[in-house]
Amino acid sequence: MRGAVMYAPGDVRVEDRPDPQILKPTDAIIRLPATCICGSDLWPYRGFDPVEEPSPMGHEYVGIVEEVGAEVTTIKPGQFVIGSFFATDNTCEICRSGYQSSCINRVGIGSEGAQAELMRVPLADGTLVATPDVPADDLIPDFLALSDVLGTGWFGAVAAEAGPGKTVAVVGDGAVGLLGVLAAKQLGAEQIIAMSRHQPRQQLAREFGATDIVTERGNDGVAKIKELTNGLGAHSVIEAVGTQESMMQAIRSTREGGHVGYVGVAHDVQLPGEEMFFSHVHLHGGPAPVRRFLPELIDLIWNRQINPGKVFDLELPLNQAPEGYQAMDERSAIKVLLRP
Ligand SMILES: [Zn+2]
Ligand SMILES: [Zn+2]
Repeated sequence: MRGAVMYAPGDVRVEDRPDPQILKPTDAIIRLPATCICGSDLWPYRGFDPVEEPSPMGHEYVGIVEEVGAEVTTIKPGQFVIGSFFATDNTCEICRSGYQSSCINRVGIGSEGAQAELMRVPLADGTLVATPDVPADDLIPDFLALSDVLGTGWFGAVAAEAGPGKTVAVVGDGAVGLLGVLAAKQLGAEQIIAMSRHQPRQQLAREFGATDIVTERGNDGVAKIKELTNGLGAHSVIEAVGTQESMMQAIRSTREGGHVGYVGVAHDVQLPGEEMFFSHVHLHGGPAPVRRFLPELIDLIWNRQINPGKVFDLELPLNQAPEGYQAMDERSAIKVLLRP
């Protein structure tokens, strides 16, 4: 099969890789009608995370089940399924409390390489959720977005306690931030402030439900949020970048007693203890337990109530994955969908 492999920062190649095999009786093999590049793939691409050896890329996936291991009972060949970037048993205490991405038996999906024609999914029964039937082609980007960026934006909104009557601010205008806007809207937020300086992203944020756009960053951005919230700051802030600047922008944009949901993968973020102590801000975040939200979000997509696939603004054949990485690195594309 064909699959994308990163050799070094800036060096992604699509090459022949061995077809995945059932390695454990709890595995499934799926065939991907579409796959995609994640903002977090840009960390190694830009040299911020080390690339020690040629690494298969991709951790966002949907597909038709081709084969299951002997111990798989609920997932069946022919089903269309969605899973997340950690395979999970969905039965341990941590999973049952809704934190499947910290499952005691979790397996990272990244090393399987979802930017490929086929993929092995460990712990298939606990990881995968099937749609009611094989979906129409036009729904595939929506379900693919659910595998990570919608699930992650949704967790950001839930962690920030977005809800009716709340003002929600979103730091970050990548796919996760934009879908945090969509999540805040679905959860009933009254005012949704998207922080973005890119016109096409501002427009998509508005389509997803943003009521205000703030183009300033850092402390100027914080001042703007306060201006829009009677000097108090937002009730709920979704942090979807992962840098020191974005994290402090999120914390300082939140009112006393408010909540930050942080879902940008933190890179060298240091929190100032004294400022945190006096801020009275709640912080909750981490790798999103996307599995918790799959049944509910599959339903919203299946019934065409949300359209998260709009974040894909560039579609390429899998063989052109290198161009896709480049487009996301240059921010000329929000998110790239790849067709194997
Ligand atoms: Zn991702
Ligand atoms: Zn578990």
